Order: sequence, then structure tokens, then C-alpha cells
Amino acid sequence: MPYTPYHFGPSGFVALILRKYIDVPVFILANVIVDIEVLFYDHWPYHRYVHTLLIGAAAGLLWGLAAYPFRNIFKKVMQLVHVPYKTSFWKMLISGILGVWFHVLIDAVYHWDVNIFWPSKAKPLYNLLTKGQVKIVCLTFFIWAFISYIFAVKSYLEQKKASKVKHAAK
Ligand SMILES: [Zn+2]
Repeated sequence: MPYTPYHFGPSGFVALILRKYIDVPVFILANVIVDIEVLFYDHWPYHRYVHTLLIGAAAGLLWGLAAYPFRNIFKKVMQLVHVPYKTSFWKMLISGILGVWFHVLIDAVYHWDVNIFWPSKAKPLYNLLTKGQVKIVCLTFFIWAFISYIFAVKSYLEQKKASKVKHAAK
């Protein structure tokens, strides 16, 4: 759980640059929700079922489904932070799954107890980068996420301006 904040940089960056195809809040929150699993166990292994591609996909799908009725709240929050937001049922489902997978992918490099390909015990990703390198990469992505956020705000304001001009012309 103390590692969860590291996921905000990479997930924020990916969600923002792919926001045409990805529901930004659903994707980012999926990255947080996965780690609820870690809270369930008071002993090792902490990463069990949700930290796999298979069960993780089911968890992400459920999260997308659960989020769907709240899409108007997400829309309001995105308006508050000035990020363009257009979603759909399928976009939310897919973003839930991809968000969980993205989290599991990073964790599979970092944590030895992640069985990404469960029920197989293969861990081809583990230690591809050292723990220190994973942390540095994640922290670097905070900068990239911030830059892509600035661009998202820019296009939000441009869209708003364009729709105002349209209204005025009527
Ligand atoms: Zn995790």
C-alpha cells in the first residue's frame, strides 16, 4: 500500500495522453483500487489474485461497471480540473480493465510475490528493472503527467471558447 502513490505518475500520464480512448478517472482510480487487496492480508504474499491479468481483468470490469452510474460525478470533477471528458459504458469497462492491468504490469517488475500470469507461476517481468530504477521511472512520469495535464487543460479551454463562439454566432 505505501507504494500506491507511485502509480499516479505513470497512470496519470497514460490516461491523459490516451483520453480519447480511455476514461481518465476510471483508469487512474483502477490503479488505486487494486491495492485494496494488499490491505486484506497481514502476512506475505500480499499480492495474490487481483494482482494477476486474469482475476485483475474481472476486478477491472467490475470496477468499470460500478463506476458507470457515477459518470456524471466524474464529469463534474473533470470540469473542475479542466480536463475534457467524454465517456461511454464500454469506455468505462475497458478503462477499468486496462487500469488494473497497467498497475499489475508495474508491480510485476517490482514485487516478487506478483504472479502476473496466474495460474502460471512464471515471473518474466520480475527484476527487469531494479527497485530503484522502477521508483525513478515512476517519479519521472509525474513530470510527464504534469506536462500532459497542462495540454489537457489547454484543449479544455479551447473547446470551451469554441463552443462559446458557436453559441454567440447563433
Ligand atoms: Zn499493487
